[in-house]
Amino acid sequence: MIDIPAPLRLRLDSEALVHNWRALDRLSGRAACGAAVKADGYGLGATGVVERLAAAGCRDFFVATWSEAQALAPLGLPVSVLHGVRPEDMPAAMAGFARPVLNTAQQIARWREAGGGACDVMVDTGMNRLGVSPDKVRGGLLDGLAIETLMSHLASADEDTDAARAMSERQRATFAELTGVTGARRMSLANSAGIGLGTDYTFDLTRPGLALYGGAPRAEMAAAIRQVVFPEAQVLQRRSVRAGESVGYNATWTATEDTEVAVVNLGYADGYRRAFSGVGSASFRDHRLPVLGRVSMDLVILQCSASEGLEEEDWVGVSYDLAAQSTATGLSAYELLTGLGNRYARSWV
Ligand SMILES: *Cc1c(COP(=O)(O)O)cnc(C)c1O
Repeated sequence: MIDIPAPLRLRLDSEALVHNWRALDRLSGRAACGAAVKADGYGLGATGVVERLAAAGCRDFFVATWSEAQALAPLGLPVSVLHGVRPEDMPAAMAGFARPVLNTAQQIARWREAGGGACDVMVDTGMNRLGVSPDKVRGGLLDGLAIETLMSHLASADEDTDAARAMSERQRATFAELTGVTGARRMSLANSAGIGLGTDYTFDLTRPGLALYGGAPRAEMAAAIRQVVFPEAQVLQRRSVRAGESVGYNATWTATEDTEVAVVNLGYADGYRRAFSGVGSASFRDHRLPVLGRVSMDLVILQCSASEGLEEEDWVGVSYDLAAQSTATGLSAYELLTGLGNRYARSWV
């Protein structure tokens, strides 16, 4: 195979990732701080994330599926699979490289029948997504299981309305009432936003995802969280657009004066979604390069009149501050991260 350097890359800041985990660990009070690394570490690459967080002291990792867990198996660290076990997952589940988070009575029965072994259990405290009901738990549904972590998930912790606050508080109280009921070694409720609600919410173990990767789901967390992901893309062509001419699909931008543009190797197939059309930007040295017109599948056109030195084959930094770009595009910080495709060369610095 010939080594072909990619024309777009993600510069991933190791120090910022570890800084964010340490900040969340501190905010977690006496609780241990784990890490949600599903969806390939929110698009950064799960193995690179887990290696760095493990070196910093993180010991609890969460993925959605068994193939995600299998990809981490060589690292030999404790991994929980949030979606539990389907029949077709059982060979992987019995192999011992991760434990399931059991979500339904059927999954619990399946796990028992196979001999049980260490597991986690999800309780639904009001989100009505995954998990068994607190009543069933009190009725003995979990009796005899070797439960490592009993967990639940908050629906509205990232929101600050009275209704959202009341819902979080109801979920917290419902969950707290299960303390000591199941023999679980630990209790875990808070995701990133839940950590921001304070140590009433952190129990024994927290499970942040987004905030590790630079997203601040609550305003009071913003100062403590640093940007981790820095996309960069290479210029394919520089050209001059005459006043009155347009650029890109559907000619949505027309030059009012002669304009220099750079066509760059990045598009919506790389997660740089069409919502960035006309609102995104990049930078070269100290110059800001606004996106002109529509984002294409593999290309984006940048205004570069002020950047005389910018040439074909140069690299530009794509603006990817999650809070600012989320506001500009209407996309959530989660979508901005997990949409980053597989054409980037990912390099940790
Ligand atoms: C994804 C997920 C998390 C992490 O959530 P963030 O909002 O990214 O911090 C925690 N717990 C569960 C059950 C999840 O599915």
